[in-house]
Amino acid sequence: DLGRVFAAGRIGGLELPHRIVMGAMHLGLESRDDEGASLAAFYAERARGGAGLMVTGGAAVNAAGAGGPGYGVLTDAGYRSRLRRVAEEAHAAGGLVALQLFHAGRYAPPSASGRPPVAPSAVYSRFSRCEPVALTSAQIADTVGDFARGAEYARDLGFDAVEIMGSEGYLIDQFLSPLTNLRDDAWGGDAGRRGRFGAEVTRAVRAAAGPGYPVIVRFSGLDLMEGGTGWDEALAFARALAAAGADALNVGVGWHESAVPTVQAVVPPGTWVRYAEGVKAAVGELPVIAGNRVTRIGQAAEILASTSLDFVSMARPFLADPRIVAKARGGGAVNVCIGCNQACVDRSLADREVSCLVNPRAGRERATRAVRTAAPRRVAVVGGGPAGLQAAQRLAVRGHRVDLYEAGDALGGQFRLAARVPGKSDYGETVAYFAAELARHGVRVHLGRAIGPADLDLLRSYDGAIVATGVRPRRVDIPGADLPNVLTYPEAFADGAMKGRVVIIGGGGVAADLAHLASRGDSPLGDAERFLREHGLAAGAVPVTGRVPVTVLHRGARLAGRVGRSTRWAVLAELRRQGVRVVPAIRCRRISPEGVHICGADVSGAEGGDRVIEADTVVIAAGQIADDVVPALVRRAGVWHRVAGGARDAGGLDAVRAFAEGFAAAEEA
Ligand code: SF4
Repeated sequence: DLGRVFAAGRIGGLELPHRIVMGAMHLGLESRDDEGASLAAFYAERARGGAGLMVTGGAAVNAAGAGGPGYGVLTDAGYRSRLRRVAEEAHAAGGLVALQLFHAGRYAPPSASGRPPVAPSAVYSRFSRCEPVALTSAQIADTVGDFARGAEYARDLGFDAVEIMGSEGYLIDQFLSPLTNLRDDAWGGDAGRRGRFGAEVTRAVRAAAGPGYPVIVRFSGLDLMEGGTGWDEALAFARALAAAGADALNVGVGWHESAVPTVQAVVPPGTWVRYAEGVKAAVGELPVIAGNRVTRIGQAAEILASTSLDFVSMARPFLADPRIVAKARGGGAVNVCIGCNQACVDRSLADREVSCLVNPRAGRERATRAVRTAAPRRVAVVGGGPAGLQAAQRLAVRGHRVDLYEAGDALGGQFRLAARVPGKSDYGETVAYFAAELARHGVRVHLGRAIGPADLDLLRSYDGAIVATGVRPRRVDIPGADLPNVLTYPEAFADGAMKGRVVIIGGGGVAADLAHLASRGDSPLGDAERFLREHGLAAGAVPVTGRVPVTVLHRGARLAGRVGRSTRWAVLAELRRQGVRVVPAIRCRRISPEGVHICGADVSGAEGGDRVIEADTVVIAAGQIADDVVPALVRRAGVWHRVAGGARDAGGLDAVRAFAEGFAAAEEA
């Protein structure tokens, strides 16, 4: 029952068709020199997919406020003309669009000329890795004026609303927090004066926007910074924003420097809703928007049904599936955001253009319009993991006739394994989505059908083949690796396979996943109350201890070194909390029935001699190699072919690359 989701709503003078707001995402397309074509296509596609009000990625109100080289600055006429196109094309597609007015403050990188960022006070930032300079009073007044001018631009460019970005640790938050505002003047000193900047910005934007023009303010309901803004102060700030003329409050959670994960897969969906409810209780009738880690429309419906919150903001789910709202209305399998951050947040943090792991079209809407082929071909896809699923789906969308051969008894490949890891069950949703898509588009799926040397004629009967047979575990040359207590990593993912004391040999993301699975077992990550307790945010702290003793042994210095910047720290913190022991910089000499015999630095970092890490189960997760049997066969068959994903290059087992290559191969067919 989607209940209130499809009830019309109102923010200021603006009528919204439903209660889902597409939250702001910096895309990296903002500065692309194509007259705004890609940027506009991104929003227009989501408007066609049923999005109501969409908030743009942050538009810097002045040059100092840009969050990186890929940000647009509103004083740049070229950027403004790109934005005009965004508003026009979003409207033409039936959507509404709000411009987000943004200033990164101390989260901005130093300028190209080396000038440091600006902030209320000169407090070093771990996020931008530099120390900002404190704004003078005159510069503060100018910055307030720049926000106001941003609102004028928004209105003149045709936007339906503005959102003032005051959360996530950006400039307005930096003024509000005692950690980053050390001033003792009219802009700092006590909570009221620290909150003044945000209130003045809101007042100035309100005045510049004019009566009835909707002004949303996104602020931190909870900053998750030790010694930061307290709950009572946050509520007082919410009331001050309301008094300054905000038409709605969008409640953010966490700063970029917070030590508590907020949007990663380890966070149970809906965890942060209670803080938005607290804000709603404090501001009464004023519309309040909840968000952060809401992944499904059904979940938004529950929030709207069980609270007095007015709107739910979802951002990444619109990257994963631009039609998420239309599908909620009219049916259809949804490509669920799996919370991996790999192609979105991590790329944004690295100043790269954003896309989506499970939807490689995201951010490339213009370049990848689904054009049905004039010459349908019969294509065999070999392998039903991420690359094969994506290739088969895309081929079928383009009108080709497709057979998919999968050696195993189910689709999904490495994603089937990942779905077993606590917090990653949504990886199974990706498999279910693609399976539904293959059925919808008439792809014939052959499970339990390995392709081998006897199938040369079968392969030749097709016009072409896309090979996505993935990877095999790398065998390691350690004496004792063939003992019965030693498992490969795919074996270790099976139910109950890891028994007793577990030692995992390997330093990549798979080793970290297995450590998590072995240690956490089936204990739920889906429980918001428990998550909050584990992080000391709710009464009744539960010390987490692992289910079984788990040790990870690896040769390198950094466990899971290829896991992205937004996620790696959260994964490691989770393992630490469960008592998983990580021993870096070692060599495994041999495996015996007692355990793993190692030499190298021990856990305390001191040089150690040979010693045994006792184990009942040893898992080898030391990388993988490309499965090259079928690639060699299709070459022999002499048919058109492409090799995609791990079968092409096993390095790093990169799911972003697997989906993208599956997609690209299908485009070439
Ligand atoms: Fe979600 Fe991952 Fe896609 Fe980002 S890349 S939108 S987190 S599925």
